[in-house]
Amino acid sequence: MVLRCLDLGEEPPLSVPGLLEWCRRRPAGDRVFGVPPGLLDAGARLVHPVGVTPTRTCLELASHERRGGIEQEARALLADLARRCRNTEQYRRSRRFLVRHVAVHQKDRFERGWDKEVWVRVRELYQPVPEFLVVAGKFLRCGTCRLPALLGGRRAPEHGAPVAGPQTWCEGERCPAGERMELVRDPERVLLLRRALRMFLALPSAVEHAGLETLAAHGLVHEAVPEELGSYRLPGLGAYTVHFYDRVQPVLLADRFTDLVDRLPGTPVLVLPRRSAGSTEFRRALAAALPDELRARTLISAPQELARRIHQHHTGRRKGAHA
Ligand SMILES: [Zn+2]
Repeated sequence: MVLRCLDLGEEPPLSVPGLLEWCRRRPAGDRVFGVPPGLLDAGARLVHPVGVTPTRTCLELASHERRGGIEQEARALLADLARRCRNTEQYRRSRRFLVRHVAVHQKDRFERGWDKEVWVRVRELYQPVPEFLVVAGKFLRCGTCRLPALLGGRRAPEHGAPVAGPQTWCEGERCPAGERMELVRDPERVLLLRRALRMFLALPSAVEHAGLETLAAHGLVHEAVPEELGSYRLPGLGAYTVHFYDRVQPVLLADRFTDLVDRLPGTPVLVLPRRSAGSTEFRRALAAALPDELRARTLISAPQELARRIHQHHTGRRKGAHA
């Protein structure tokens, strides 16, 4: 970084806190960061201005640049877990546990219904709550995405659980204002799912859950594609694969999706949160970054419309074949 600044005739940051401050204030597209143009939204930052922690953009970019980075770490952790399971049902249960338990409190382990067998298998995927998330002996979780949260300036919550707003941060970064957070008073008794799995497994799980529910409600059977984070085949329909994502950078998503789907034949269905699927800007940037052939055969859907979109497409194709 220092060399790059000197090359560009800029004064480099003097310390690590100085560098963090730079990343908070300067857009990620600033020439000092050397990100190729067109890869990120114009306003994206590498460090969150309120949370002062690497943003989702930063993690998505790192996963794009360095052999899969933190996303690859999530895939490798899940592949390891799959190897430790005796069968697919055990793996499905373990994966579901991770999605439902981003944080595990010591007292959870004494509650009825606690799955001890799964816990023994997944325990190593959890770590103590990192220090920067603990303020005045308390730890906050977002009321919407359930991921770690902070108040701006690392203020301590004063009167019970605070409400999400412009001066708060959560790891999901896109949650609506107005929802009350969860206040955890004894964070030393809490274990947190690793960040790679929080970002690339737990965060998109809301989209995945909603999408799989609509498939089930329409009698569409699905089976997971092994070694992938949120990809399914629909054996009843033959040629469809469904892929659940929650990402903030459409061009990086297009690149990841191209890489994945090139290996899978048929019609891929890309399922995004309604926020992204319904955004003209997001869809346009995503579509423009897909190769022509893939763009022509990909369906993009919000989870709520998933079954209807597939059904319409399938019926249309059958009619086309009979015409
Ligand atoms: Zn959130």
